[in-house]
Amino acid sequence: MFLYKTVVCEKYGLHWYFKKANLLPNYKYYMGNVKDTIKKLISALGGKFSKELGIDLSQGISTEIFKWFLASKLFGARIGTNIAIKTYREFERCGVLSPEKIVETGWDGLVRILDDGGYARYDFSTATKLLEIMEDLKKFYHGDLNKLHEMADDEDDLEDLLKGLGKGIGDVTVNIFLRELRSVWKKANPVPSELVILAARNLGFISQTEEPLSALKKVWLVHTIKGKDFSDFEAALLRLGKDFCKKRKCSSCPMGKECRCKKAK
Ligand code: SF4
Repeated sequence: MFLYKTVVCEKYGLHWYFKKANLLPNYKYYMGNVKDTIKKLISALGGKFSKELGIDLSQGISTEIFKWFLASKLFGARIGTNIAIKTYREFERCGVLSPEKIVETGWDGLVRILDDGGYARYDFSTATKLLEIMEDLKKFYHGDLNKLHEMADDEDDLEDLLKGLGKGIGDVTVNIFLRELRSVWKKANPVPSELVILAARNLGFISQTEEPLSALKKVWLVHTIKGKDFSDFEAALLRLGKDFCKKRKCSSCPMGKECRCKKAK
């Protein structure tokens, strides 16, 4: 392998070799300091939202997965991330972190928790939806989301089963929920959100023509950071896309130096 690499690289250069070997979506990741860029991205923007909330998904424990499901439902509305976090903290403070507790708390109690967290704009509708979702979760899956995953035939079916809870869960919520379960549930493999793709393109991790998920996975595979997983990388890109790229906050962007977007210069 070494001899092959040396000979072909002398003749055609590293670009050719890595393209040919299909190891990387773009040779510049080998030549540059991509690992440093990823490290900086995760440390400056933050990784998984579940971890930020103190939820440990790594062992696939049902109670932790449910907590993340509740948080994803709160993140899924058109509401600020800080309000969703504050509202989740309110559920935590009240000890309402299981399907049983949500049902027991009832509509009035849920509205109170949502209001206290600042979720007032969606308090009535979210309380109603949460109760409907819990009913289905208990009725069809014994209140256990791991059971729902077990029963899903494949990736698409998993998304459909989640979307079918209650009177329906939206694409955004399902995407948020599943992207942090990629390394926990084998059928969790959602497409990256538009914001992740936007940030990944701006930082030069993927090109306009590449299929985003497989290209990003290749970048991560080559530049894995100890103690982090692909979901941390994806969450950091989402934070960058949402809080900076989409709002065109280039002047205060922590990744300005690493950005390859011509418009930002
Ligand atoms: S400099 Fe601008 S375009 Fe580049 S990553 Fe930051 S916010 Fe996005």
